[in-house]
Amino acid sequence: MKNNHRLTKEEGLKLLKEADLLELGRIADRMREKLHPEGIVTFIIDRNINYTNICINRCSFCAFWKNEDDPEAYLLGKDELLKKIDETIELGGTQILLQGGLNPGLDIGYFLNLLQEIKNRFDINIHGFSPPEICYMADRADLTIRETLRLLKDAGLDSIPGGGAEILSDRVREIISPRKIKSKRWLKAMEEAHRLGMKTTATMMFGSVEKAEDVIEHLDAVRSLQDKTGGFTAFIPWSFQPGNTALARSIEQRAKSIYTSRIKHHASRIYPATAVEYLRILALSRIYLDNIKNIQASWVTQGLKLAQVALRFGANDFGSTMIEENVVVSTGVRYSVSKGDIIKAIRRAGFKPAQRDTYYKIIQYF
Ligand code: SF4
Repeated sequence: MKNNHRLTKEEGLKLLKEADLLELGRIADRMREKLHPEGIVTFIIDRNINYTNICINRCSFCAFWKNEDDPEAYLLGKDELLKKIDETIELGGTQILLQGGLNPGLDIGYFLNLLQEIKNRFDINIHGFSPPEICYMADRADLTIRETLRLLKDAGLDSIPGGGAEILSDRVREIISPRKIKSKRWLKAMEEAHRLGMKTTATMMFGSVEKAEDVIEHLDAVRSLQDKTGGFTAFIPWSFQPGNTALARSIEQRAKSIYTSRIKHHASRIYPATAVEYLRILALSRIYLDNIKNIQASWVTQGLKLAQVALRFGANDFGSTMIEENVVVSTGVRYSVSKGDIIKAIRRAGFKPAQRDTYYKIIQYF
């Protein structure tokens, strides 16, 4: 591949399907090095605060949601939530990731009060509410996405996580999350946020029922929006974790019954993505998204060891120390690491570790 050549969709698909793994890694690593010649690998100290697990979307790939009447359903009390922020700051945290299910008991007033209260009490970046939550708030309040975002921003919301993207292909969304907003609305929410001056990340959850073509559709949609707005700070590909999910259960059941070719395809996908699949997607993301500066390795789903390898396949960031994480844990996958583990892993992989803020500004070198 020539320097500065932007991949077409066809070339991206060919690379994803056919390229030699190590060659793909070499191209991605060269691109990472060009964008980050200092050899620094960053991470952020933050905490995921999942304010509620009640969710009307009931996505089949998600093990986190509960119905309102489920004994395990919860809504965090305000005091408990504020205490978590206090603890985060004590541990040197600079950001909270505030996300939850689509809880019909909460209206926009609840969120505006919460944001104001957090900002009145703490000096911390609020990275919160992925596009499905924002669209749900907007619909319930009969507001446009832009009006909703403006209210949230004025109340203290700083930046937006890229959750809820899964795969930006409505064919896939129809299967794994039919009640969730479609691709166009996810992109619209991000575009409006960028136009209001808010930075966001973009994610991709792969390894469920998508095909290579769907992955390319996703990457291309993110790249095109970034060309227009420049508002994405980072891209985070992570793999579907089948544990405790309805999607994995239904695939298993259907695989046991009549075998159609479509089911056969699904049945081939009940295992979590392998290391090789993860590295191929990660490297391709680095190469395809030539206009997004940072690519995160997902140690939460892949573990620290594979995350170290990911640093040679295009990643330049370790994401968050995750003082608390509840969504991936609900699938039964739990990698427990400390800030010290992350620093050591980055250093031993041959890079200089540094703590950053939400906007990738370095706070401290180690
Ligand atoms: S992925 Fe999000 S929207 Fe879907 S069920 Fe889980 S919490 Fe709800």
